[in-house]
Amino acid sequence: MISANLEDIRRRIELVCKRTGRRPEEITLVAVTKGISLEEIKEAINRGIRDIGENRIQEALLKYEGRGTKDEGRGTRWHMIGHLQTNKVKEAVRIFDLIQSVDSLRLAQAISMEAGKINKQQDILLEVKTSSEESKFGLKPEDTLAVFQEISRLPNLNLKGLMTIAPFTDNPEASRPYFKMLKELSEQTFGHPTGVQRVLSMGMSNDFEVAIEEGSTMVRLGRAIFER
Ligand SMILES: *Cc1c(COP(=O)(O)O)cnc(C)c1O
Repeated sequence: MISANLEDIRRRIELVCKRTGRRPEEITLVAVTKGISLEEIKEAINRGIRDIGENRIQEALLKYEGRGTKDEGRGTRWHMIGHLQTNKVKEAVRIFDLIQSVDSLRLAQAISMEAGKINKQQDILLEVKTSSEESKFGLKPEDTLAVFQEISRLPNLNLKGLMTIAPFTDNPEASRPYFKMLKELSEQTFGHPTGVQRVLSMGMSNDFEVAIEEGSTMVRLGRAIFER
């Protein structure tokens, strides 16, 4: 099933890209594996998945340690996409290639400090709360530029771009305004890209095509890959 799902997803990504004049290679497909077994993760890796997204540090650690050293796990990149508490930062810096959920200066400072201890340049994204839903984490859009400037001064961090989670909906069009907002914020904070592509992590199973239309460079898919 994973294989057929991935084929379908890749075809859909290709179609949107064709329609919007983008190249499929510009889009990183992150497999979101919360609640998914290591066996299934390995199958996805065998089917070409190289980016793994986890929400919880404990669960991620178990899978990371169990991922094996041969074929599986080699060359995979691990993404932290859930809320990160400062007391878990040390573990996060150890295992994650990209921490997407940086939502405060304090958290960025903690990551910078832990990364420094192990001589790592930690790639991060800033998570922006583009909707007004109470429950979600993320920087307020109006604070993003100021926090970006503060974080840019910290050592041992590579600030690669922005991430957002649109409110859940069955109607993909409903997500479009949030994706547009993230794209605009990215241009305001990073300026217009010259050369290096900025990461815009947006789009999930229900709305990834709309996200790509709006400039996403990284989609995070769980159900679309793993549901039977
Ligand atoms: C669960 C989750 C996803 C994937 O959601 P699906 O609807 O299963 O594709 C993406 N991003 C974050 C931050 C998540 O928590």
